[in-house]
Amino acid sequence: MDNNEFDVIIVGTGASGATLARDLSRRGVKVLLLERGAQRPLSEKLSAIAAIAREFPVAAGMKATTAYTVGGATSIYFGVCKLPTAETFDKLGIDLTRELDEARRRLPIAEVSDDFLPPQSLVVRDSARALGYPMKTHPMLIDPSQCPQGRYAYEAKWKAATFVDEAVAGGAMLATRARVARVIVEDGRAVGVEYFHKQGGGMRKAYGKKIVLCAGSPATPKLLIDAGIDDVGSRGFFCKPAFMVFGSVPGLAGRDAFLGMTECDLGNGVTLGDGAMTASLFKLFMLSNLKPTRLFAHASTVSVAVALNDTLGGRIDANGNYSKRLLPAELDKLAAAEGIARKILEYAGARRLFRSKYVAGTPGGVLWIGEHLDRDLQTRIPNLYVCDQSLVPDVTITPLVLLVCLAGRLANHLADALQPRVAAAVAPSDTVTA
Ligand SMILES: Cc1cc2nc3c(=O)[nH]c(=O)nc-3n(C[C@H](O)[C@H](O)[C@H](O)COP(=O)(O)OP(=O)(O)OC[C@H]3O[C@@H](n4cnc5c(N)ncnc54)[C@H](O)[C@@H]3O)c2cc1C
Repeated sequence: MDNNEFDVIIVGTGASGATLARDLSRRGVKVLLLERGAQRPLSEKLSAIAAIAREFPVAAGMKATTAYTVGGATSIYFGVCKLPTAETFDKLGIDLTRELDEARRRLPIAEVSDDFLPPQSLVVRDSARALGYPMKTHPMLIDPSQCPQGRYAYEAKWKAATFVDEAVAGGAMLATRARVARVIVEDGRAVGVEYFHKQGGGMRKAYGKKIVLCAGSPATPKLLIDAGIDDVGSRGFFCKPAFMVFGSVPGLAGRDAFLGMTECDLGNGVTLGDGAMTASLFKLFMLSNLKPTRLFAHASTVSVAVALNDTLGGRIDANGNYSKRLLPAELDKLAAAEGIARKILEYAGARRLFRSKYVAGTPGGVLWIGEHLDRDLQTRIPNLYVCDQSLVPDVTITPLVLLVCLAGRLANHLADALQPRVAAAVAPSDTVTA
């Protein structure tokens, strides 16, 4: 192999790509990781979030967010952990019980105690409980040892960048600011990718025995469509529409908080959660909702987040654009939940209530095993695989742990498939960073 030939080329370094790269490099597989974002020090300052976060429309007036950076969306995610269930595995068509046990060992999954709930969350929780909407805490993907007395710490959240570091230490080659433009298909088989790498002199090609798209939304669907797969999104998609209702409680001394720690399931596909967050994320919310006068009101603000488990629907067009309309019944449920959220906040003594605009979660349900992919996550184009959020089949869970399970399983499959080559030790390669 020369230096543009690899066993496996992985496009994207989010949770899926990072896990896959780490597990493959540990088994001696020669891996190239291509990431369109840069490798910046991660932080939650407004300027740092603005530099990596990217919105894309999924429905009229509703956008989803992703992040272009090493580690993908985990650099800005909330860290809520609703584990996949037997029902998730049924929908997926693969039982990942073994991989789930493994993921529990390799990820920090912490139960949160009352210590973690800041004053603004306790106000909301107590009010909700008094009105008959008990909010339970979720496990979180955080390392509690980094949160003395439950204090918020960005560093405590698990991030895929740590797995990227381990992959590189294990010999994977990482190219950042390397945007994959297309999959190279020859004689009906995927053989490589073409990517734009300014530092590397413009358009470049790399060849691999196996190509895995882990580029998330909206990139993976577009790469597949361009490669000739014509039924991407044939069942539509779900995107978990959500909004927040905010209010002010004069004199309240709130503080930074992990978002989404508590939740009440209304039993009709809608959940109400506590919307406490960090001051910098709060500022982003106020700016994007045109509330500049509230920019510095983080400490006295309480909020309830409303989210809907939407049904599959809508489409992805030939340019990879998502579009869907919420059903009238879904809009009715959200309107009713807004009424409950307002009652909870009013009962908590909040004033000056307002609802944010709708936002969407990362789209899932785009690709299905047995329809778009086989059980080994291979597409109809031999040697082209997908492992990312596009194939999360269950809107009721949070996706991260499922993605780590899927990537772990795919790593075992690919390493076994490449075994004759892997048996020969491969020298570690250099890191190519921007
Ligand atoms: C604000 C927010 C909060 C969230 N909160 C939670 C939560 O609490 N719990 C939870 O489980 N999940 C949460 N999620 C969802 C979770 O973060 C994602 O589902 C998960 O990280 C997706 O991982 P992925 O591997 O599919 O890809 P991504 O994380 O989307 O990564 C894809 C990577 O591919 C790169 N890329 C894209 N196109 C190209 C290209 N053409 N060439 C090269 N590289 C490319 C991107 O830069 C990115 O680094 C949240 C997401 C967001 C945005």
